[in-house]
Amino acid sequence: MDFKKAIRVIPDFPQEGVRFKDITTLLKDGQAYKDMVDEMAEYARSLKIDVIAGPEARGFVIGAPLAYALGVGFAPVRKSGKLPGEVVSLEYELEYGKDQLAMHKDAIQPGQRVLIADDLLATGGTIETTVNLVRQLGGEIAGAAFLIELTYLKGREKISDVDVFSLVKY
Ligand code: IMP
Repeated sequence: MDFKKAIRVIPDFPQEGVRFKDITTLLKDGQAYKDMVDEMAEYARSLKIDVIAGPEARGFVIGAPLAYALGVGFAPVRKSGKLPGEVVSLEYELEYGKDQLAMHKDAIQPGQRVLIADDLLATGGTIETTVNLVRQLGGEIAGAAFLIELTYLKGREKISDVDVFSLVKY
């Protein structure tokens, strides 16, 4: 499956100069969506994972069907203030300013093998923060799976000790 064909590139969104990768065109194509989950599941099966962690919101759209396909649990990683229980949270740098990501303290049991899933790896800030949250909870990072990797932003260098898998590279 040529996933690149199913992804729409929108110039100058959300600001001038950015070529935004819009995955909604892939998601609405049932065959492409299924093939995407199947190919990620194939990668994940060798890792013997216990749970998937996905950052909101597009990490849910990818992580949840992947968890279902593998028969494992899903742990949401959310912007702070959204999770109702006790959380661990970490601040991270955005291009302009800061943000925070949080997970429930009991989302991961110590020693569990965790796969992180998201739509896109850009600078790696989101994934690095997610990796650190999972490790704070005692989870072992088994790998990180993305639909898209923007290789020129070198995001994988931020998490050089993590096995990174991506289906489409720009
Ligand atoms: P990073 O933290 O710089 O690696 O950015 C990754 C996050 O930004 C992911 O959670 C993406 O959902 C989002 N993101 C950045 N660029 C794009 C894009 O072109 N299309 C869709 N999402 C993007």
